[in-house]
Amino acid sequence: MLKAKDFNFKQTRALVRVDFNVPLNNDFEVTDTTRIDAALPTIQKILKDGGSVVLMSHLGRPKVAYQSVQLGAEAKFSLRHIIPTLEEKLGQEVLFVDDCASEEAFTISKDLKKGEVLLLENLRFYEDEKQGFDDFAQLLAQHGNVYVNDAFGTAHRAHASTTVVADYFEPQYKMAGFLLAAEIENAQKVLNNAEKPLTAILGGAKVSDKIEIIKNLLNIADNIIIGGGMSYTFFKAQGGKIGNSLVEEDKQELALELLKQAKEKGVNIILPSDSIIADDFNNEANTKTALNNDISDGWMGLDIGEKAIEELTAVILNSKTILWNGPMGVFEMENFSNGTKKIAEAIVKATKKGAFSLVGGGDSVAAVNKFGFADKVSFVSTGGGAMLEFFEGKELPGVKALS
Ligand code: AMP
Repeated sequence: MLKAKDFNFKQTRALVRVDFNVPLNNDFEVTDTTRIDAALPTIQKILKDGGSVVLMSHLGRPKVAYQSVQLGAEAKFSLRHIIPTLEEKLGQEVLFVDDCASEEAFTISKDLKKGEVLLLENLRFYEDEKQGFDDFAQLLAQHGNVYVNDAFGTAHRAHASTTVVADYFEPQYKMAGFLLAAEIENAQKVLNNAEKPLTAILGGAKVSDKIEIIKNLLNIADNIIIGGGMSYTFFKAQGGKIGNSLVEEDKQELALELLKQAKEKGVNIILPSDSIIADDFNNEANTKTALNNDISDGWMGLDIGEKAIEELTAVILNSKTILWNGPMGVFEMENFSNGTKKIAEAIVKATKKGAFSLVGGGDSVAAVNKFGFADKVSFVSTGGGAMLEFFEGKELPGVKALS
């Protein structure tokens, strides 16, 4: 896979797929610039080399196709809103065209001069984008003579701009941007080159969301910690009393099967031994500590307990590679955030001792941000779904299209 960092963009017009799917407030101002910041190194490299840049992205989930409704109510999804932020970050004017494939759009992109940046309108105003239609991809390809994909967060989608468009560029003219390349390199460090012991920490609400990732990790991990809501299905499956804790009844057999497979493969599946239980799903609920196979009816486990924290911390501190996906409890509620925070602290400590730590997937990323640990782990992945699919062992279409 070619990388933008190794390419000289002098006299090229680079079509760059970025992820500018940023949150906006009611005044359409960008409230979190993380994704824009993440795209800057690629854009700046192209401009510094003496190229010009055509940026394309999606924003939100507009319901209608551009052709059928000229924006109207969907105007809130216009990428126009992010221009002031982008101009401020780049320190230069950003040209904008309010569609992706009109004559006007092609004229502007073809006339771009060295150092200029053009932003196209939201790709998802076109039904053809998500359908991955060839015709639309071929039109998009006309905007550049080099294609750079830097949108890791959508690399698991075979959309026109993320995958199909790459077919219209010769192998030496399609490549990964800085962000996408970093995501792949760091994920591969865990998947293919992990220094042992490798500990995966999985949490969150549902076993069903994490089945494929657990199955794949059984082939590479030494330890798999299963915490959060999904752990209670494992306790119940083994005959434990879990009260009103979260459970997926129909996944109990699968939980037993995963435990059996782990044993056969010599992988330690580590379940937290105690929980902070509550008499209501509420921050103000009454709480006490209970062993995880002995939770009374009317009570539910909403966080891991002190004993579990101690045991899991010991495993984490003993690891050389750590992958974390999913919180250990209902961390959004202050009174049930302690376990997730303590596990994050343990990962930070292990990282300081020399371990490689990767945090990926929506809620664990939110957790490290909430606790201020994002710069104290080795790598925080920006691609929730894409990172999960990568760890499930799937080939990402957006990445495959570049090689
Ligand atoms: P996921 O998206 O699968 O990573 O799940 C994240 C969600 O799981 C968060 O919103 C947590 O509040 C929730 N969660 C974690 N632990 C528990 C628990 N013990 N009971 C209910 N929900 C939980």
